[in-house]
Amino acid sequence: MDYLPLFLQVRNQRCLVVGGGDIALRKIRLLKASGANVRVVAREISADIREFLASGNHQLLKKPFDSHDLNGVCLVIAATDDEGVNRQVAMLAQQRQLFVNVVDDADAGNAVMPAIVDRSPVVVAFSTGGKAPVLARLLRQKLETLLPRGYGRLAALAGECRDMVKARFSEINDRRYFWEKVLAGPAAEKALVGDLQGARRLIEQTLANTSEQKIGEVYLVGGGPGDPDLLTFKALRLMQQADVVLHDRLVSEDVLALCRRDADYIYVGKKRDRHTRPQEEINALLVELAKEGKRVLRLKGGDPFIFGRGGEEIETLASEGVPFQVVPGITAASGCASYAGIPLTHRDHAQSVRFVTGHLKDDSYALNWNEMLDPSQTLVFYMGLMGLPRICQALIDHGRNAQTPIALIQQGTTRNQRVFTGTLATINKIIESEKVKAPTMIIIGSVVSLRDKLRWC
Ligand code: SAH
Repeated sequence: MDYLPLFLQVRNQRCLVVGGGDIALRKIRLLKASGANVRVVAREISADIREFLASGNHQLLKKPFDSHDLNGVCLVIAATDDEGVNRQVAMLAQQRQLFVNVVDDADAGNAVMPAIVDRSPVVVAFSTGGKAPVLARLLRQKLETLLPRGYGRLAALAGECRDMVKARFSEINDRRYFWEKVLAGPAAEKALVGDLQGARRLIEQTLANTSEQKIGEVYLVGGGPGDPDLLTFKALRLMQQADVVLHDRLVSEDVLALCRRDADYIYVGKKRDRHTRPQEEINALLVELAKEGKRVLRLKGGDPFIFGRGGEEIETLASEGVPFQVVPGITAASGCASYAGIPLTHRDHAQSVRFVTGHLKDDSYALNWNEMLDPSQTLVFYMGLMGLPRICQALIDHGRNAQTPIALIQQGTTRNQRVFTGTLATINKIIESEKVKAPTMIIIGSVVSLRDKLRWC
């Protein structure tokens, strides 16, 4: 992030606006709406500004800007149509450690004014760091339609009921459950349509009928192969309400960033042959946290039920009577195949596809090679990079054509995706020369040849 998003309390604080035209007026409106005492300094001050600031503790100084105008202010906005003046204001303000926004010249100052969707007390503010104002406008239009007008009323009502709810539930988690239930239920609907009394009555009823929640829940969620746009809606919803997040190395940073910000994060990462926490310990931790009443997100790369040990984890939960939900994710095979332009099946090339682990418990590679020789079957190896020379050799030894195409997709679907193609006979050289690293997906079969035509990213 280039800027730290923050909401400032400027009520009754002096804020300086240098400039007296329409652009200045736009900023003055916001400052006044936030309760600031505005000081306007400009050679000319428009009649509109004069009228707008006619009442209240505001100052209108019709004169050129000088550094004394910065005395006693907490925030500065340079909004003249003279770039030189704006820059001078910005420089002097920053010398005094003041935050200053220069209109239409974000880099000159050290603060940007965000685009705003106002449902006070709910305010959504966002910015493109001054890089793409049109994009900000489009986003704003979207958000305007997404956030019902009544959100402000709902938030205000929630604020009024806060103490009552606090008195009823001493545990923060219990309060959170309560609010989640209320804010997604009929009371919220009533508030949104303006029936605040009805909404309040429902909140009080719910409060009287809700008992303290003690047993939590585990969400076993597939986070997909890396690109956060590939998450399901359900995954996102649960990610944003979990109290604790257990994640491992395969979950991409971008996906993790979408989890609830104030959740506790526990890394239970796994590296080949170097398990940070034994599986049994992870299973036990899930049970323990859920029994403390927490909503626990077990976030997995790809799909939890495909080479993800998801089955083992929920077996323990099931036997301990802990409630859980499983959310499928896009498995690496699908994600990598799509983003590499390699359909896993195709009527002219492959009638079946087989997902195989390339990492065997005893490293014996005692796979059923004879079942992998059919040229119309695509083979997809997970965790196969280390063993790839042996895999290729075994396939050739058992009779699969050495010219069979093969693709390696490293960090598929992410910004760092790399794709290499070759044949069973040549791929090992490519691994060495290109220094291919895990996580890498291996696709073997005639479908790989389609990539030349179908690659799109
Ligand atoms: N449950 C996961 C797979 C876990 S096994 C899923 O459904 O995708 C881990 C292996 O998955 C890695 O060794 C690698 O072969 C593959 N993998 C996972 N994410 C990948 C990615 N973004 N790009 C390439 N391969 C990936």
